Amino acid sequence: MSRVIAVANQKGGVGKTTTVINLAAYLADSGKRVLAIDVDPQGNTTTGLGIEKSLVDVSIYDVLLGGEPLMEALIPTEVVGLHLLPATLDLAGAEVELSQQEGRELLLEKEVRLIRDRYDYVFIDCPPSLGLLTINALTAADSVIIPMQCEFFALEGLSQLLSTIELVQKRLNPRLKLEGVLLTMYDARTNLAQQVADEVRKHFHQQVYQSVIPRAVRLSEAPSHGLPILRYDPKSRGAEGYQKLAKEVMQHG
Ligand code: ADP
Ligand code: MG
Repeated sequence: MSRVIAVANQKGGVGKTTTVINLAAYLADSGKRVLAIDVDPQGNTTTGLGIEKSLVDVSIYDVLLGGEPLMEALIPTEVVGLHLLPATLDLAGAEVELSQQEGRELLLEKEVRLIRDRYDYVFIDCPPSLGLLTINALTAADSVIIPMQCEFFALEGLSQLLSTIELVQKRLNPRLKLEGVLLTMYDARTNLAQQVADEVRKHFHQQVYQSVIPRAVRLSEAPSHGLPILRYDPKSRGAEGYQKLAKEVMQHG
């Protein structure tokens, strides 16, 4: 049974893209068939997996708005078993174009439904907003991972995100569940990180992953080499964090 998981938080810079790239890579490395879908116009998942955006022929934009079948857009990556559905800058105007489409919330779901059985895991990297692209991702997904940066203001905006998830559950996708909350960029040297982590656990209890992603320079360097951490520095602390998370995500299933 395949699992389609959206990684969402309307705040930018909380670790959504880093989580999609590295979680997807570790799952593929354990022999799973994995697809990463980039739904952010910034295309950071695309670049981070080593794909040059300007060379992309068919992208998520063409799938959502150009009538291209999703299959046509898939690209293999450096990691065996990990495929990418890339995003390019075309997608920047998509929110407006989408708003004029009939069934605009369901466009991604319709395509993902056709190919999901080819994969064990499909991850969808959301943009930093609660607009139509994120709604499409939540509608196509079985569950959602919420990464939260262990910094001040981490919980700010959370109620908007949770009410968007509820709205999607009610109107568009009743099977949508909270897969888990992930603490990211955790700096063990600061009290603040600990306080934020405690507060998030008080709020979400067992839904918070045991694995915590440390703030680690190697994780931030890897994308500029177009590599997931398991290829860039598999012995680093950041690598260890995502490797543990991948195990936890597999156990949940
Ligand atoms: P989002 O997709 O939510 O905007 P990113 O995953 O792109 O967030 O992360 C934002 C920035 O922080 C990027 O430059 C990324 O490389 C860096 N980063 C992400 N996770 C970590 C981490 N655990 N430690 C250090 N830097 C990180
Ligand atoms: Mg991102």
